[in-house]
Formats: sequence, C-alpha cells, structure tokens
Amino acid sequence: MANLPDESLIVVKNLCKSFEDGEVLNNISINIKEGDLVSLIGPSGCGKSTFLRCLNCLELLDSGCIRIGDVELSRDGIEQRPDENMLSAAHQMRSEVGMVFQGYNNLFPHKTVLQNVMLAPLVVKKMPAGEARGIALGLLKKVGLEGAANKYPSTLSGGESQRAAIARALAMNPRVMLYDEPTSALDPELVGEVLQVMKDLDSEGMTQIIVTHEMKFARDASDYIVFIDRGEIVEYDDGDILFTNPRNSRTREFLRHFTGTAVNY
Ligand code: ADP
Ligand code: MG
Repeated sequence: MANLPDESLIVVKNLCKSFEDGEVLNNISINIKEGDLVSLIGPSGCGKSTFLRCLNCLELLDSGCIRIGDVELSRDGIEQRPDENMLSAAHQMRSEVGMVFQGYNNLFPHKTVLQNVMLAPLVVKKMPAGEARGIALGLLKKVGLEGAANKYPSTLSGGESQRAAIARALAMNPRVMLYDEPTSALDPELVGEVLQVMKDLDSEGMTQIIVTHEMKFARDASDYIVFIDRGEIVEYDDGDILFTNPRNSRTREFLRHFTGTAVNY
C-alpha cells in the first residue's frame, strides 16, 4: 500500500478485528481526505467504537492496514506477534489522533480546566509552561470556555466537560479528531454547543470522524456518512443522498428508526 500514490490523510484497507466472541470488524476499507468531517452511524454493537479504537490504536488490528499521514500500521493476522516496528507505529499513530468519548473523559478532578488542557503538552511534549498555557488558553477560547479556565471539572456542565475534553485533545495538535458518541450522554439543550465546536473545527480544516446518533448533524454537517452494520461498511454517501435514497435495504431499515429525529432536529 505504501507504494500507491494516495491523497488521503487516512487510508484503511481490509481492516479485520475479532474478540473472543467472534469477528467485530470484517474487511473495513475506507479513505478519508484531509479536512473531511465523516459521520459513522449504525446499530448498537455493529463495531463503530471498535473501529475508532483501532484507528487510535487503543485496539491493535488483527489484519489489514491503517495509514494516517505518514504513519502506517499493517498486520497479516493474529499469528503475527506485534514486533517493535508495529508497536512503534502504533505509538506514533496514537500521537496523530485525538479522541473524545461519550463521557468520563477523565479530566483530572483536582486540576483546573486550564491545567487539564496544559497537562499533556507539558508532560508528553515537555513544552515550556508559558507556551503550553498560551496554547491552552487559545484552545479554551476556541471551544467557548475562556471563562471556565480556572474552574474545576466537577463544576462544569456536561456540554462544558465535553468541550474541555475536545480542547485537551486538541492541545496535542493531532491531525485527526475522533469522537465516540460525544453528545449521547448530554441533556438535549447541551448537544448543540458541542456539535458547534466540531463545525467550527471543520471550517478550520480539521479532519474529524464522529460516531453519532445525531442524524440531523450527520446529514447537514458531514462531508459524508458511513453506515456500518455487523462489522461491515454497508454504504457511504453524501448525507442528502443517504437519507433520501439509500441504496441498501439495511441502510433503509436502520434509517427508518430515525426519520422522526431527522426531521425534528
Ligand atoms: P458499537 O460501538 O457499534 O456499539 P462496539 O465496537 O462497541 O459496537 O462493539 C462491537 C462488538 O464487539 C460487540 O459485540 C461488543 O460486545 C464487542 N466488543 C467490543 N469491545 C470488546 C472487547 N474489548 N472485548 C470483547 N468484545 C468486545
Ligand atoms: Mg460504541
């Protein structure tokens, strides 16, 4: 794969991943261009989280290939023991990727929001404190939390916590942001402020992949939507096409459950 010219920032080829209970991801292949905002949708248990976790190497793929920027990770099968090269690629890949989860993003409770955002640049990148502080303050402004810099995580709303988690991930200057249902645990009135941050990042050219059930956001804000079912990419398309004229009956069946929300949001 390394020999093929490819403009994509992210290339996934024939990614397979199983757990003890069986196969979870079956031959996933997808290319994502720099600056794209991609929504992943699909029924519970279809493998969406596992896919994101493979992209940031929280899980090691069984076989296939992932390339993000210049970092490439490939494996022939679980018989191939992860060697030093593979582990080093996984480590590098993780540093290219920022990730935000549904909740429990583990902001340190005894540190302020600002200190939380500064922490990884200070510790991992050994950045001077003044520089880390400047970057963190800029990021807090970007996510609309400039007024919360000195607050402690327990005093934040759910939406503020998620925005702080986004700022903290951005502080490591990732090339890609991954979000696993970042708004699913939020009260409805707080969802919009988190999604707005992603829209703003999109307009700045950040590459983003979001697992979401916010169908209106997926349709309106994404460059395209990927529908996953039973560990396979069934269909991917522009939101308007996917919602109005899905090609696959499985996509149609899944989206039927969301017709109400898609209209109402
Ligand atoms: P989704 O995010 O689409 O709901 P997941 O990727 O979380 O789906 O899970 C897909 C399948 O993989 C589920 O059957 C789940 O039980 C299984 N699974 C996920 N993570 C693990 C794990 N660490 N160990 C064993 N099974 C797992
Ligand atoms: Mg999940």
